[in-house]
Amino acid sequence: MTDLIRIEDTPKYLGQTVKIGAWVRQKRGSGKIAFLQLRDGSGFMQAVASESELPEEVFKVAEHIKQETSVYVTGVIQENPRDDFGFEMALKDIEVVGQSEDYPITPKEHGTEFLFENRHLYLRHLKPYAIIKIRNTIIKATYDFFYDNGFTKIDAPILTGSAPEGTSELFPVEYFEQQAYLSQTGQFYGEAGAMAFGRVYTFGPTFRAEKSKTRRHLTEFWMIEPEMAWMHQDESLEIQERYISSLVQAVLDNNQAELKMLDRDPKTLEKYTQLPYPRISYDEAIEMLKKADFEIEWGEDFGSPEETYLANQFDKPVFVLNYPKAVKAFYMKRHPDRDDVVVSADLLAPEGYGEIIGGSERDTDLDYLVERIKQEGQDPATYEWYLDLRRYGSVPHSGFGLGLERVITWVTGQEHIREAIPFPRTLNRLWP
Ligand code: ATP
Ligand code: MG
Repeated sequence: MTDLIRIEDTPKYLGQTVKIGAWVRQKRGSGKIAFLQLRDGSGFMQAVASESELPEEVFKVAEHIKQETSVYVTGVIQENPRDDFGFEMALKDIEVVGQSEDYPITPKEHGTEFLFENRHLYLRHLKPYAIIKIRNTIIKATYDFFYDNGFTKIDAPILTGSAPEGTSELFPVEYFEQQAYLSQTGQFYGEAGAMAFGRVYTFGPTFRAEKSKTRRHLTEFWMIEPEMAWMHQDESLEIQERYISSLVQAVLDNNQAELKMLDRDPKTLEKYTQLPYPRISYDEAIEMLKKADFEIEWGEDFGSPEETYLANQFDKPVFVLNYPKAVKAFYMKRHPDRDDVVVSADLLAPEGYGEIIGGSERDTDLDYLVERIKQEGQDPATYEWYLDLRRYGSVPHSGFGLGLERVITWVTGQEHIREAIPFPRTLNRLWP
């Protein structure tokens, strides 16, 4: 038996006879010729079965093959300039490995509900394939970027006993005799890590009981949360834009075929690798919105129509700096010259994708933090270990949180964030 090769490697075997293990996505043609659309996880390729060149039994198998049957195909690799991949197989032999009767996702159009009810099968299709491949690139580029920039990965726990931003969006879990929650941020652990390792990041699943149905919210998503000691906000913003640019560049370098499958124009993405990104203040943002007749007053947080409008005024991601203290978390650093805003920044993605990063410099003062915790109606005792970070060698530090699926949705140009994760969890989806 010849060794199996993978579809992505077939160009190296031009003119040779090879064997591939694959699934049949579709069969086209009839009568004297059958075109089998194959996929093997590494790529997509067509095999051509022609009646005149094949033993009768072999042609019959090819001609009657059903969608998603798994097969070994043997044949000669040849060029096909009309095909996106550029290569195809002239079939010599085919052996069925696993039958597939009545595969539910037929070539006709299906609704989103149906496709996600069948996500375990839908993952095999072109669009999910391309998006998850790009996700894979973005994950690798994340590890590379932080490794190359002197960060240590600190894994934050997923089961926590504390509720840093209030309990309303938390999923409670029973933890023996105690109440625990699924983590909605690893930030505090990141801050502890930064005091030990200087520059750290957490990267893990994050859980939020988001009760609203939006195109941007999952109840389980993956977040990357860098935290840097001895760093002020300006430098943090530079890291953020360099990080985003490196992610987009990695996709351009590795996923041209996938971008094409998604009809995503690489030229659009190329703009996003050009630094710096514009920076506007929250005050300026409010002015822009008012001029555009939004009903918004200074002090209010932005909803997605506001974020979309603001982002659309720029052709690159835009930082919105220094939000009102009242709408941001208690740990954000006070502005040196103003009492009403904090040293924060949200990064808004262009094309209507909204916030992809939220970050800030962290306040270093113990008494101020205790006061702010009380103002929020919370008990400082819950934050004892976190406050220790201010008791023992507090230093200037900054950090941010980036939602992996938000970035993927934007980079791949999808309508809805559920496309950006293999098995999405939303308000009404816990299956499959
Ligand atoms: P939003 O206002 O959009 O709900 P947030 O202010 O709650 O965002 P942060 O708490 O700052 O967001 O979280 C950091 C990042 O995590 C966000 O910038 C976003 O990219 C991502 N994120 C937040 N909530 C979700 C969610 N429910 N699903 C997917 N990604 C999310
Ligand atoms: Mg939120």
